[in-house]
Amino acid sequence: MVPAGLACFDFDWSLIDTDSDRFVIEYLSPVLRHKLDTSPMQWTDLQNECLKEYHDQGGSGQKIRESLTKIPLDSKMIQACQLLHSKGWVLAIISDANQVYIEGILEHYGIKNLFSAIITNPAFWDVQDRLHIQRLIPADGTPHGCPTGVCSLNICKGQEVDKLLLNLNSGTTGSTVIASLDKAAAPLRMLYVGDGRNDYCPALRMNSSEDIYFVRKGRSLEKYLNKAESPEIQKAILSRIVYWDRAGEILSELQSTL
Ligand SMILES: [Mg+2]
Ligand SMILES: [Zn+2]
Repeated sequence: MVPAGLACFDFDWSLIDTDSDRFVIEYLSPVLRHKLDTSPMQWTDLQNECLKEYHDQGGSGQKIRESLTKIPLDSKMIQACQLLHSKGWVLAIISDANQVYIEGILEHYGIKNLFSAIITNPAFWDVQDRLHIQRLIPADGTPHGCPTGVCSLNICKGQEVDKLLLNLNSGTTGSTVIASLDKAAAPLRMLYVGDGRNDYCPALRMNSSEDIYFVRKGRSLEKYLNKAESPEIQKAILSRIVYWDRAGEILSELQSTL
C-alpha cells in the first residue's frame, strides 16, 4: 500500500512538552543540573558524562526509568498521531535526544507502535544498569557536512529525512519493512513538527504548498524563520507554515485538512 504521507516529528518541545535530556537530569540531581548549565562539553557527550557521574555516585537506573513516566505529553498530540496513523501516514521521529528516552516515553503513553522510525542518538543499558548515550554521528565519524549551519554536530535532520524518503521508495525503514512507494506516483505528501533551529534543515525537503510545516511559537525556530535581516531564510520554505502553541491546534489543523 502506498502511504498517504510522511509525518516527521522532532521530539523535545515538539512531540513532548519538555526537553527530555534536561528533564531527566533535573529529576535525578540538582548538582548535575548545574553541570548541564555550565559545562562547555558537546551536548550528547555531556548527557553521557552526567549519567556516568550519577551511576558512579550510586544512582539507580530505576529512577531514570521512573523519570520517563513523568514526562508531559499532551493527549491532543497523541490523538494527532493516532489520526495520522489511521489515515495511512508513515510516522517518524527525528531527534537529538536518545533511543532509550524516546522509546521509554512512547511505551509509557502506549503509542510506540504508531511510529515506523525513530532516528536519534543510540543509547543502551549496561550489565550494571548504567545508561550510556552516544552520538548518532560519532566524534571520529565522517561529519555530515550540511551547509545550512543550523544542524548539530551529531545529526543533520535534513539528511535523515532524505534517507527516510529513500527508504520509503525501497520499502524499508531501518530493519522494518514498511509500505513501498510507487516511484511513478506523485511526490509523497509531508508534514514536519518542530521547535528548534535544527528543525529548519529538514523543512527544506518539503516542496509543495500541500505540505505543512508546524512551527512551535515562542521558540528558536520561529525566531530563526522571522529574522528581519534574513528574509531568504523563510523564502526557502515552500510548504505551508502553521505556527502552533498547543497540540490541540495541530489536531484541529489535521482534522480539517487530512
Ligand atoms: Mg525540539
Ligand atoms: Zn542539515
